[in-house]
Amino acid sequence: MNPTQYVVALLTLSLTTTSFSQSIIQLPTRHRHPLTGNRRIRADDSLYCASWRFSIETNNAGAWSSIPARCQDYVTDYVTGDRYLSDSDVVAGDSLAFIKTVNVSTEGKDAWVFDIDETLLSEIFNSNTYNEWVDLAEAPALPASLRFYKELQELGVTIFLLTGRDEFQRNDTVKNLVYAGYSNWERLFLRGPSDEGKLATVYKSEKRMQIEDEGYTIQGSSGDQWSDLQGFAVAKRSFKLPNPMYYIA
Ligand SMILES: [Mg+2]
Repeated sequence: MNPTQYVVALLTLSLTTTSFSQSIIQLPTRHRHPLTGNRRIRADDSLYCASWRFSIETNNAGAWSSIPARCQDYVTDYVTGDRYLSDSDVVAGDSLAFIKTVNVSTEGKDAWVFDIDETLLSEIFNSNTYNEWVDLAEAPALPASLRFYKELQELGVTIFLLTGRDEFQRNDTVKNLVYAGYSNWERLFLRGPSDEGKLATVYKSEKRMQIEDEGYTIQGSSGDQWSDLQGFAVAKRSFKLPNPMYYIA
């Protein structure tokens, strides 16, 4: 099986055998494969799939559960090639341009909330289950996000991390964040027992409300899912990172 076939197989597997939040996707920033060889994206598929991606990234499509069969090569090409990194760079640039317009509090009361998976870290494709993958704690940083994270810190913005991962994964999550180059966040929120079963939008809104109740102003929020960004206690500006691989309600 060549690398591209491997990516497609795992993409398909992850989307057919697991829940939306359990996909294991490698974004091989350090081992990018050239997409050559025995497959080509047909021109009409490429056009359709670019439009499909626009539809899901803007959330015009609403909830979706699988990548259209004709778009699997397109999505593989997108996430393993330069476009995903380029799109992420543009998001980070827009985020930085916004926060530079804010007169950041010297008391550390201006906050930014980051999701983790496909936002700060890029997941690793492998044959493990999601939890086994979390245990490995070796997902690399999404480069644009790491750069922006550090720029926020230089500006004096207080950083909160808010993930749908479970509390029992705290140690592995911290280990992975440090491994990837992140440090000095204010707090890391994971799903505790009272958060189980809540939609991500509700769970994340409640945690943002808690942050606001502590006197912080959430200037910005970054996430690859609309459920990272919508609901209540939303940030003044929300920044959606690309993710054409799965949808979490
Ligand atoms: Mg995420």
